[in-house]
Amino acid sequence: MRTSCNGCRVLRKGCSDDCVIRPCLQWMKSSDAQANATVFLAKFYGRAGLLNLLNAGPDHLRPGIFLLLFCLVF
Ligand SMILES: [Zn+2]
Repeated sequence: MRTSCNGCRVLRKGCSDDCVIRPCLQWMKSSDAQANATVFLAKFYGRAGLLNLLNAGPDHLRPGIFLLLFCLVF
């Protein structure tokens, strides 16, 4: 069995091969940073809201959406 990505781990959701969060977190080297970023965005947009926003975009744009959401908060 495959371990969950850090995003799914903190959101306590199942992780899969087509996980929308995993590719969004790969630019961050530390797993703590990945977890913190996910928790932060989930608090701000809501767990479901964050996932909906990521799901709304095509695969290759999701990391960009994640970054954009991050920038909008700061
Ligand atoms: Zn995942």
